[in-house]
Amino acid sequence: MTSPDGAYSHVVDESAAISLAMDLMAIPGRSRQESGVAEFLRSRLLQAGVCADYIQFDTAHRRIPGGGEVGNLIIKLPGTRKGPRRLLMAHMDTVPICVGCQPVRDGDQIRSANSRTGLGGDDRAGVAVVMTAVLELIRQGLSHPPLTLFFPVQEEIGLYGARFVSTQKLGSPKYCFNWDGSAPQFVNIGATGDYGMEIEIQGLASHAGVHPERGVNAIVIAAMAIADLTENGWHGLIQKGHHRGTSNVGIISAGEATNVVTPLLTLRAEARSHDPVFRKKIVEAYRKAFEKAARRVKSSEGATGSVKFSAELKYESFRLDPASPVVSLASKAISSLGLTPELCIGNGGLDANWMAVHGFPTVTLGCGQQEIHTIRESLHVPSFLQGCRIALLLASGQVDC
Ligand SMILES: [Zn+2]
Repeated sequence: MTSPDGAYSHVVDESAAISLAMDLMAIPGRSRQESGVAEFLRSRLLQAGVCADYIQFDTAHRRIPGGGEVGNLIIKLPGTRKGPRRLLMAHMDTVPICVGCQPVRDGDQIRSANSRTGLGGDDRAGVAVVMTAVLELIRQGLSHPPLTLFFPVQEEIGLYGARFVSTQKLGSPKYCFNWDGSAPQFVNIGATGDYGMEIEIQGLASHAGVHPERGVNAIVIAAMAIADLTENGWHGLIQKGHHRGTSNVGIISAGEATNVVTPLLTLRAEARSHDPVFRKKIVEAYRKAFEKAARRVKSSEGATGSVKFSAELKYESFRLDPASPVVSLASKAISSLGLTPELCIGNGGLDANWMAVHGFPTVTLGCGQQEIHTIRESLHVPSFLQGCRIALLLASGQVDC
């Protein structure tokens, strides 16, 4: 599938791609409420002539804690020629700040005309990239290997769609590409792992004016533990020898009155590191700091508080070999457009983290997102269109190992 001069064919109908992205961004669809987006995608694919039997939903939403309107949308297209199956993906949900978005074009940018909302380019731009690639394959009659389109739900609230996907429905793809990022030359090949911690401190209530000495204040225990973690370099940016990580106390709730020595506090924190062993060390440092603080705060009768500590892995880190075929395919597609591919590692979680756990190494590519999760969010149109061309090159199999 090359043009007469031997160059790759990566032409996309630009105005169709842009209006598809804008139509998608206008659909409300925060996490757990993706059915409008899914229905829109299904009807566009049917309109383009995709056989209804190829389009299915899985049952991820029944396994995800907290449920959801729909499962993941998965489309399995047979190849028009032989070759390893390729998977193209982008998550359907947006963060709540994007609900009510009114996308408008302003030169090279798309923004929301509603100044109180974000745009939802994260990740409707990615969804539009994947859709454009397939719609262009059909429109231009390009041949292609077997393809899976995977549109996960609930990325923003914990990578749930990718985590709970019915993996057998994906059809054993060999090369997987996820669009969820900014510049089109970026190839994300790794991301950090994240532990969520929940800490409950039980103190002892007493009258704060009459007999404060008889109580054990749960807030004091937390304060001492957090001060200890901060002084010893376990809070915020963590650097111990050649080990790196981060941690953050994000949420504290406690207390109902100033005249009561506060008996109960709950706290939520996180710990991240690319290194799973070091990440566990951070979690251990938290546990020890809170237990130590609980032993140190005593009532006049010698009573102490207690700590209930739980930690849950939200997602594991992953790192693809820069020399692996999926990375070199993505790099080749990017180079063929005259861009210089830049391999990078992320410090946030991606659906690709769970794809790696399921045995489907996935690179994540840019699609023009800017200032995501804010009301200043915009989509950089030229970058988005480059993303569409890269996706078309990868979906058609024009770039090969
Ligand atoms: Zn995203």
